[in-house]
Amino acid sequence: MTATSRGALVFYSAFDDPVEWKAALQAAVPGLDVRIADVATGAVDGDSADVRYALVWKPPQGFFARFPNLGLVINLGAGVDALVARDDLPDVPITRLSDPNMSQMMASFVLFCVLRHAREIPTFERAQREGRWHYVHPRTAGEIRVGVLGLGELGSTAALELVRHGFDVRGWSRSPKQLEGVKTCHGAGALPGFLAEADILVVMLPLTGETRHLLDAGRLALLPKGAKFINVARGPVVDEAALIAALRSGAISEATLDVFEVEPLPAESPLWGMENVLVTPHLASIAIPASASAQIAENIRRVEAGEEVQNRVDPARGY
Ligand code: NDP
Repeated sequence: MTATSRGALVFYSAFDDPVEWKAALQAAVPGLDVRIADVATGAVDGDSADVRYALVWKPPQGFFARFPNLGLVINLGAGVDALVARDDLPDVPITRLSDPNMSQMMASFVLFCVLRHAREIPTFERAQREGRWHYVHPRTAGEIRVGVLGLGELGSTAALELVRHGFDVRGWSRSPKQLEGVKTCHGAGALPGFLAEADILVVMLPLTGETRHLLDAGRLALLPKGAKFINVARGPVVDEAALIAALRSGAISEATLDVFEVEPLPAESPLWGMENVLVTPHLASIAIPASASAQIAENIRRVEAGEEVQNRVDPARGY
């Protein structure tokens, strides 16, 4: 098939390296015409009627209208909240990146966060700064209940990794799930009991109409006293002011936060100065061109063959 009959792919992202992506896409789909949109204006060289696919991260408003023959929008990332919130989406299938390497990168970050809290590392970091030998008798992983909120691609991989390290892992999702070694539950009714048994809570939920501020003051208060809190999903799933209050009172003893209600985290945020909080700048996992391109190639093949695409996003559901 020639590049012309295949159609072109337009790439837009102000955050990702277009040259690396272009090379990875062309290695996965030989002959694919990859056109890089101008970050400032969204303008693309060549005949916009050729463009069949758009691989995008936060393109400017009105971007999609330039391409009358678009057949697929691919969100350049796993989280689609910014994309599905738009009012200028074309009426074509929308997919997101799904990549085992991305899941592994996230799972290893979550494992690091959980181990750090499980082994009381922040306590020792503080003690060291004060020149204090501060022995805390370690607990075994099996004694520590880790609750994973959200058991999707990333959440289920992380939950299974934590099982592998011997933690008592529980998971919560919207629909029923079976994951070996994980005590699963689902639905709003199960949430209070789930939170009450999470010594370490890991937030791995997409940001949707239903999950925005799901963890408000009332729900955070259900966690065991002194629970540890990890958010690697999206900041607004948590009421940040309520979280700060819980961290100040000791109701939540420690937090690792990779995502925030406003990013970059504003200089005036009290989170920066809190001794019991580790702030990381939204990097738990990233889109990896070489491996993610294989899934994009498969979806391009499916569009060409008139088949249903994989990892389709439901804009109405929000994920
Ligand atoms: P998925 O869409 O694969 O899974 C989402 C999970 O959340 C599913 O288990 C789903 O339930 C559950 N869920 C959704 N809504 C609800 C609800 N209302 N009540 C209960 N459970 C719900 O997402 P991923 O695992 O791929 O990714 C999770 C999030 O991680 C992304 O949306 C993104 O925001 C974030 N992310 C963060 C990164 C970072 O660097 N910090 C990097 C990449 C992603 P069900 O299974 O029943 O559908």
